[in-house]
Amino acid sequence: MVDRQFGLIRFLRGENNGRYPFAHSLYIKGKNCRVIIDPACSKEKLTKLRDNEGVDTVWLSHWHEDHFSFLYLFDKCPLWVSEKDFPPLTGLDQLLDAYGIADKNHRAYWKAAFQKQFHFQPRNSARFINDGEIIDLGGITVEAIATPGHTPGHLSFFFREEGVLLLADYDLTSFGPWYGDADSSIDETIASLRRLKKIPARVWLTCHDKGLFEENPGIIWENYENTIYKRENKILAFLEKKPATLDEITAAWLIYGRPREPLAFFQFGERALLKKHLERLQRQGIVALDKEVYIKIKS
Ligand SMILES: [Zn+2]
Repeated sequence: MVDRQFGLIRFLRGENNGRYPFAHSLYIKGKNCRVIIDPACSKEKLTKLRDNEGVDTVWLSHWHEDHFSFLYLFDKCPLWVSEKDFPPLTGLDQLLDAYGIADKNHRAYWKAAFQKQFHFQPRNSARFINDGEIIDLGGITVEAIATPGHTPGHLSFFFREEGVLLLADYDLTSFGPWYGDADSSIDETIASLRRLKKIPARVWLTCHDKGLFEENPGIIWENYENTIYKRENKILAFLEKKPATLDEITAAWLIYGRPREPLAFFQFGERALLKKHLERLQRQGIVALDKEVYIKIKS
């Protein structure tokens, strides 16, 4: 699959079809400003772009490592990001804290990975993008849409003239959404998805996998949201059999489906997503926590 041009917007397909640790990127060649959004598609593509066509500013849809992995190629360019998603980009400890990684061994694993694999370099300043802000890049305007849930400050972008909507990490994959960080939220994820669905776009772009929809994704929107409820139902069915601790529920691999390596990534992810669900079920009065044991108390 190749890159695609929509007016002044170029969809830059990521390596390995934009699967983690890669992501699809977007390049906008405005007459006033040339922007790269989420520089994570491919080192080669991004280096060529920088040296040939030029990049003035770098925008991030959110702070995740698979979206900033080649940010270091643009260390002279100003960074634009939402205010809420900036703190994790200011230092390694802030980044680990935002993920909620507390375990000493996991912190060491991720510290090394963020530096070596994702070339993390702290940023000490950024220009903040606000919800509803309309930015004129010259011959093209873009509306920033706050879509929290995946991260607290996740942004999507709507290019009005071209009818192109960048959903970023509401990526419409069959796995479903991620909301496992310290400040992620399932409820906000659902609200953001519903907000995005209503935008009158003609082309929908995401940062991973298929990445490009030239017709309304239709049932794919529902399937994506439904993965949330399917996960929840699996947890409830598990607790129906017997009350369990978070460790016991994690060991059942209800979300990823099977044990996957590296554990520092997948086991952490499984546990983090489960925890969000269990917190939500507790708020809804469906599950209670007694000492360390989760109990289903309502159908
Ligand atoms: Zn992400």
